[in-house]
Amino acid sequence: MKDNCVFCRELIGRRDTNFARLYPEFSSRVIAETDDLVVFPCIGQLTPGHSLVVTKVHYSNFAQAFNSLPDLAIQLRRVIADVHELLDVKSDDTLYFEHGAITADHGGCGIYHAHLHLVPQAGSVKVGSVSGSDPTLFKSLIDAYSTIDGVMPYALIGAEQFGFGAEKLDVPLPSQTIRRKVASVLGCPVWDWREAGPEQGMIELLSRKLA
Ligand SMILES: [Zn+2]
Ligand SMILES: [Zn+2]
Repeated sequence: MKDNCVFCRELIGRRDTNFARLYPEFSSRVIAETDDLVVFPCIGQLTPGHSLVVTKVHYSNFAQAFNSLPDLAIQLRRVIADVHELLDVKSDDTLYFEHGAITADHGGCGIYHAHLHLVPQAGSVKVGSVSGSDPTLFKSLIDAYSTIDGVMPYALIGAEQFGFGAEKLDVPLPSQTIRRKVASVLGCPVWDWREAGPEQGMIELLSRKLA
């Protein structure tokens, strides 16, 4: 638990968080979980159901979590299947991305706690290279993760339709680079999650989950 990490604070139920500020009526936004992972809807939804898979324990990114949690691949596959069932969307139409930052010096999105973005209805969105070097693409997300160690910052992007790849980043990306690219392809006016207010989709999803 890192006191200066907003996801760590949220996961132990503290209210000094972005989530509690925007949604004081809800005590939690967890919609699926395994032993080591939770899923919650993202603040600043790029598409309806845009969610984050988050490690319960603080790691900087998923590559580092893979180094410490031997059955993470099994848990990740399971929780991704659960969340698609819950949202009633097809996994082959989801775009996945992770900023892969380690600290604020590496861009990312302002939150340096491992989180993988799941963006439903965006599986055909080709984000393209963010670093200028095109990565090798793999059929599965897990295979793409096996190519990185988390010591260097990276950007992981993929979908079942075109494959998954991780770019090692020698030069840090400006904050929210991937979000901004995905938002622009999708035609979302707001790419910056910090600008998001309470969202109807989040309220409906959390109300349904609690019902
Ligand atoms: Zn944390
Ligand atoms: Zn993010």
